[in-house]
Amino acid sequence: MSTEDHRPGAVVVGGGHAGLQVAETLRTEGYQGSVTVVVDDPHPPYQRPPLSKDYLGGKDAAPLPLRGPRFAEENRIRLRTGVTATGIDRQRRTVRLDTDKEVPYAHLVLATGATNRRLTCPGGELDGVHGLRTLADAQRLGAALVPARRIVVIGAGFIGLEFAAVARARGLEVTVLEFAPRPMGRAVSPVTGDWFARAHLESGIDLRLGEGIERCDGTGRVEAVVSTTGERYPADLVVVGIGVVANTALAEQAGLEVDNGIVVDASLRTSDPAVLAVGDCASFPSVHAGIRSRLESVQNATDQARHAAHTILGRTDDYDDLPWFWSQQGPWKLQIAGLHRTGDDTVLRGDPTTGKFSVYCFRDGALVAVESINRPADHMTARRLINGQVPLTPEQVADPRTDLKTLSRSAGVA
Ligand SMILES: Cc1cc2nc3c(=O)[nH]c(=O)nc-3n(C[C@H](O)[C@H](O)[C@H](O)COP(=O)(O)OP(=O)(O)OC[C@H]3O[C@@H](n4cnc5c(N)ncnc54)[C@H](O)[C@@H]3O)c2cc1C
Repeated sequence: MSTEDHRPGAVVVGGGHAGLQVAETLRTEGYQGSVTVVVDDPHPPYQRPPLSKDYLGGKDAAPLPLRGPRFAEENRIRLRTGVTATGIDRQRRTVRLDTDKEVPYAHLVLATGATNRRLTCPGGELDGVHGLRTLADAQRLGAALVPARRIVVIGAGFIGLEFAAVARARGLEVTVLEFAPRPMGRAVSPVTGDWFARAHLESGIDLRLGEGIERCDGTGRVEAVVSTTGERYPADLVVVGIGVVANTALAEQAGLEVDNGIVVDASLRTSDPAVLAVGDCASFPSVHAGIRSRLESVQNATDQARHAAHTILGRTDDYDDLPWFWSQQGPWKLQIAGLHRTGDDTVLRGDPTTGKFSVYCFRDGALVAVESINRPADHMTARRLINGQVPLTPEQVADPRTDLKTLSRSAGVA
């Protein structure tokens, strides 16, 4: 093992949305040391969201890159793709790589993301059972889709439903099995979850709610899925979308605090102040959720990354950016500002029968989240309203004469 011969600078493990943004912000805001990004994925960094949308839908012929081809060179970033960080020596402040080298650091940022949960039921390892997280997953799935006719999707979360809509639009028979009583679990209000359930059913997807998976049947290759009700669904392809687990192994081995993610404080530092964590892998104190949370979204990854870079550059403010998210499910674009919680009161604007409406969620009398379906202007207004803490009652929101856009501008938030 040899140590790389350069002054310790910033080392980022993970070159996804979070990792690259840390590196870019460090450079654009004047970090003087070396910046190294290590990512095990062999492909040039790419965007994940399109994989379950236009890439598998056939609209994008190639994966969308995260940055331009000259990004690393122009920003003086050592970008190591296809290289895995295998250990951290916190005393010596070095990161071990699988290339038999170690890289010294002054600041280390863990942006290791998450890995799909796998099916643990009998038959979960059969050929034809796929996950969808990486470009390699999407390439395998794309090839398997060509001869497929009958697909079973396990889990009606965002990725499962996005993929189901894409497969249905390709003319395939699609069944979605979801253990919970409505899709997208606690991430959206019951109004929005129920509306999407109906919309997907009407598009021809056989959405089975309250039905989990018992086993996958087949000899070598999957032939059917048997659900918890005993029903047997023939399938030549199964896609599993049952959530992710944070990639915390490196942090755990290094003795950092881990609890459903790498535990960080409001400045995104781990239990070792020289090590920060951001994005899907980080568990942070969320002012918007009111509890420690781990969020899986591009907004969270990139905003936390900028904040972590600022922490390294000496800023001391707390991370409190408003969470927002989008999901494209067939013709329906869902955009969410803020975080909904079970028990929130909801008020509708727009007419759900037209497929364009927004659901405003109130908690203790304050607007905390807005879910917009095919109403992008509502989403942008909602972000300003929540960020600006504009005082609003449910009655005002329910009244179509209330001009929310003008009110949001009065908050003076960009
Ligand atoms: C199919 C799909 C669709 C999605 N759609 C949306 C959407 O519509 N909207 C939205 O907001 N979000 C969406 N997301 C979620 C969003 O993509 C993630 O929240 C975001 O990519 C998280 O970025 P990250 O950098 O934290 O982690 P990741 O993107 O997971 O990047 C982490 C990288 O670190 C690498 N790594 C891990 N350990 C090591 C190691 N020891 N050494 C080297 N490298 C390592 C990983 O392999 C990975 O490449 C989607 C995700 C998927 C998979």
